Amino acid sequence: MAAPVFKLVLVGDGGVGKTTFVKRHLTGEFEKKYVATLGVEVHPLQFHTNFGELYFNVWDTAGQEKFGGLRDGYYIQGQCAIIMFDVTSRITYKNVPNWHRDMVRVCENIPIVLVGNKVDVKERKVKAKQITFHRKKNLQYYDISAKSNYNFEKPFLWLARKLVGNSELAFVASPALKPPEVSIDLETQRQYEAGLANAASVPLPDEDEDL
Ligand code: GDP
Ligand code: MG
Repeated sequence: MAAPVFKLVLVGDGGVGKTTFVKRHLTGEFEKKYVATLGVEVHPLQFHTNFGELYFNVWDTAGQEKFGGLRDGYYIQGQCAIIMFDVTSRITYKNVPNWHRDMVRVCENIPIVLVGNKVDVKERKVKAKQITFHRKKNLQYYDISAKSNYNFEKPFLWLARKLVGNSELAFVASPALKPPEVSIDLETQRQYEAGLANAASVPLPDEDEDL
């Protein structure tokens, strides 16, 4: 049986690190295809699971998001999504609801992961307790750092389990990734993980108290 392939729509403000993130995966970067009509690069990322091979065709823009929303063709037939913001830039978190709205307008009920990128940067602006959007909309959330590979596989694993419909799905071998360009220390990681666990148990703030 052929390996399943899922279209993954990657969105978020310009500069948050989408292209950096998708290019960490070396085979996906090597086999990417440019869709000229839409100005999009599609990266086929392969993952090895206990149920066999699985691919995410990750759609990445050529920078059109800097000039407003994306065309419907970008979202059409999206089967899953990652919405990215930059934890060093509050405005990119504030814009997450807009990306989410644009997405669900076309892709009504797909699994979506929210990721906060650049957690390697010391001056983090968007803290765990301020990140609440995913809880209101039933998305999964992960801190990531594309440049250090921190949590690179987490969003893909969560989406794969949802798409296959089996929470026992696991990755059995790591994909080839670029070597880390920065490192985040274990103590910082531990603090962020504790902060997120703690934030999850705090009641949701009122709508107007978001940030
Ligand atoms: P895009 O516009 O969302 O595709 O963002 P890019 O991938 O072009 O990245 C924008 C800038 O953020 C570049 O200068 C990247 O080097 C930087 N960047 C991306 N990911 C990270 C990260 O995890 N940590 C840090 N410190 N910088 C990052
Ligand atoms: Mg880009």
